[in-house]
Amino acid sequence: MSSSSSLHGPNTAPMSASSNGNPNSSENNDIVSDHHHVSVVIVGAGPSGIATSALLNSHSVPNLVFEREDCCASLWKKRSYDRLNLHLAKGYCSLPLMPHSFRTSTFMSKYDFIAYLDEYVSRFNVKPRYCRHVDSAVCDEDEEIWKVKVTGPDQYEYYSSDFLVVATGENNQAIIPADLPGLESFTGKVVHACDYKNGESFKDKQVLVIGCGNSGMEISNDLADNGAHASLVIRSQMHVLSKEMVAIGMLLLDYLPVKIVDKFVSFLAKFRYQDLSSYGIHRPDQGPFLFKALTGKRPVIDRGTINKIRSKQIKVFPGIVRINSNSVEFNNGARQSFDAILLATGYKSVAHKWLKDYKYLLNDDGKPKGNYPNHWKGEKGVYCVA
Ligand SMILES: Cc1cc2nc3c(=O)[nH]c(=O)nc-3n(C[C@H](O)[C@H](O)[C@H](O)COP(=O)(O)OP(=O)(O)OC[C@H]3O[C@@H](n4cnc5c(N)ncnc54)[C@H](O)[C@@H]3O)c2cc1C
Repeated sequence: MSSSSSLHGPNTAPMSASSNGNPNSSENNDIVSDHHHVSVVIVGAGPSGIATSALLNSHSVPNLVFEREDCCASLWKKRSYDRLNLHLAKGYCSLPLMPHSFRTSTFMSKYDFIAYLDEYVSRFNVKPRYCRHVDSAVCDEDEEIWKVKVTGPDQYEYYSSDFLVVATGENNQAIIPADLPGLESFTGKVVHACDYKNGESFKDKQVLVIGCGNSGMEISNDLADNGAHASLVIRSQMHVLSKEMVAIGMLLLDYLPVKIVDKFVSFLAKFRYQDLSSYGIHRPDQGPFLFKALTGKRPVIDRGTINKIRSKQIKVFPGIVRINSNSVEFNNGARQSFDAILLATGYKSVAHKWLKDYKYLLNDDGKPKGNYPNHWKGEKGVYCVA
């Protein structure tokens, strides 16, 4: 990577037209900062963005990190529920240069993970420029640079860089499914999982959780623990594993082919959970790790939800036919009234909206063009980290 002569060190802040020497001060609204060049622009200060900046800092490569929120790791700090624990063992969730302490529990709470990330930014001198939304990044092929437009707290800012790193993650924007007829007529509360913190305010309420990935399963469990009457829509096949089974499987994958690991882990899952089809939970034909590789769908990690489904504390419904006022009709003919709907329907990346020349890195759906393990490197100096 070439280094920029206009910067004096890593994470150097730009001097805006309004700055008076202080890059964060401004006297006017709607003014535009001077153009500023840096070696590497990193978009997003989640775990991927801060890790990239830390590594660049360790090699004295000047870089700027832009983050639309007012903090790093905003997904973890602002858009996740209180009882969230890491789904993966700590060895798979550490950032470069800083392994987790041996005192940290294997499946740490989100609060421990956040404390780890905060320590990380301070230890490696990562200084994201907060409250800066990257509106566009365009490749200037003549000058061989990326031109980046940023909306700051009170002005537009313009930058150019030799390299651009997309670290905006796969969880950019909440998905509200289009195939829920009548959702707009629902008279109760509709909440997306990204805004759910805990089940306190749902006590004694009938709540329908739509989506049976890890968030949907864990939120149903949390609702039931908080005295809500939780129901869960499960319409696709899925693997249910314990966190220990996932940890064993991931360890074995380092040594054995996926087919053998899948057989072993599926055997453990069948032994532990038996046949769940009478509860509306159907296993795919492929094993959990191959299924993830083929479809992108992760196994669901059970943290107590299955027991509650068995004991009917959590009801399972198949697909939804229509929603009408507060009543929901399901495709097995059942009908029930609900006070709230919780959409655990996932997220999507919208990087291809602001990365104008996304063709060098991404497909039209915002996903990397290259297949793993070559998904991270695009053309013309654009990279993605996740
Ligand atoms: C409920 C839940 C549980 C999870 N559990 C685990 C787990 O146990 N283990 C694990 O490894 N992963 C887990 N994940 C996946 C998680 O997404 C990643 O671990 C991690 O947060 C991804 O980091 P990232 O930096 O790539 O993206 P993110 O953490 O999503 O960070 C992207 C950042 O980019 C910012 N941004 C986006 N667009 C712009 C823009 N245009 N301009 C400026 N800034 C922008 C966002 O505000 C955000 O701060 C979980 C995810 C969820 C939702």
